[in-house]
Amino acid sequence: MTDGTVGLIGLGNMGQPMATLLARAGYRTRAFDASSAALEAAASAGIDAASSAADIARTCETVILMLPSSDIVDAVAGEMLDIDGRVATLFIDMSSSVPARTVALAERCAARGVRLIDAPVSGGVVRARSGELTIMVGGAEEDVQSVEDVLAVLGSRVVRVGEVGAGHATKALNNLLSATHLLATNEAVLAAREFGIDPAVFLEVVNSSSGRSGSSELKLPRYVLTGAFDSGFSAALLEKDVNIALGVEHALGVPAPVSEAAGARWADLRSRLDEGADHTEIIRPVERDLGRELRSHG
Ligand code: NAD
Repeated sequence: MTDGTVGLIGLGNMGQPMATLLARAGYRTRAFDASSAALEAAASAGIDAASSAADIARTCETVILMLPSSDIVDAVAGEMLDIDGRVATLFIDMSSSVPARTVALAERCAARGVRLIDAPVSGGVVRARSGELTIMVGGAEEDVQSVEDVLAVLGSRVVRVGEVGAGHATKALNNLLSATHLLATNEAVLAAREFGIDPAVFLEVVNSSSGRSGSSELKLPRYVLTGAFDSGFSAALLEKDVNIALGVEHALGVPAPVSEAAGARWADLRSRLDEGADHTEIIRPVERDLGRELRSHG
C-alpha cells in the first residue's frame, strides 16, 4: 500500500492541530492517541481515528510521532515494528526526544526495513495551528526529501541540521536556551518592577535592546503579564528538554556551568508548581518568595 496515507500518533496540544492541518491540506490522515477524548476530538475535526498504533503502522505510508518522551516513542514504535507483515515506510519522530535513543531506534527500524528521521519542532501551539513551526530535521537526505511536502504543511521553516539524532539535539539545546532566558528575564523584570519601573515599559525597552529574547518578546507579554499562563507547553516537558540538553553537553565534554545552574533552578521551581502547570508559570514560586506578584500594583 503506497497511497501516501499519513498517520499521526499523539493527539495532544501539538499533535491535534498538526493532524488537522494535514487533513485540511488534502492528505488522507489517520491518527491514534491513548486518550479516547483526544481521538474523539480528532474525529470531529475530520481525521480518521485508528484503533491502535499497530493499525496506523498497517495502513499508513508515513507515520508521525508527536509523543511526550523517548520512553513512549520507543514503546509505540516497538508496537508498530512488532506487527506481522508490512509496516509503514518511514517514521518521523517530531516529539522532543533523546538524540542517542533516536539513533538506537533508527537502527531497530532499519532492521525491519523502516526508515526513521527526527523532525522536532519549535513555535508552540500557536504556530502548530498556523502551520508555521520551525522544524529541525535529522536524517538521510533522501529520506528527508521524500517527506518534504508533508513537513511543508506543518512548518514555514524546515532545516535539515544533520544525520539522525541531530534534530533532537538541536531541539533540546534550543529549549535549554529558552528555559535559561525565561528564568533570567523573570528575575530581571521582577527587579525592574521592585525598582518602580512598569514591567511593560521595561520589556518594551529590552525588546529594542540587546537583552531581548523569545521570553521578553512573547512569553512575558503574552502569557505572564496578562496572567493567562496558557502557552500550551508544560513546565514538565521543558524540564525534560533541559535534561536532554544537559545530557548532550555532558556526553560531549562541553563545560556547562550556566546550563547546569539553569537546569537546577528550573527543577527546583518546577517542583513547587502543580503537575501540568504551564511553563510560563515558572515565575510563580519566585513571586511567592518575593512576596509580590509581577502584576500587582503599588
Ligand atoms: P501533550 O502531553 O499535550 O500530548 C501528548 C499526547 O500523547 C497526549 O494526547 C497523550 O494521550 C498521547 N500519548 C501518550 N502516550 C501515548 C501512547 N502510548 N500511545 C498513544 N498516545 C499516547 O504533549 P504536547 O505538548 O503535544 O507535546 C508533544 C511533544 O512535542 C513533546 O515531545 C513535547 O516536548 C514537544 N513539543 C511541545 C511543544 C508545545 O508547545 N506543547 C512545542 C514543541 C515541542
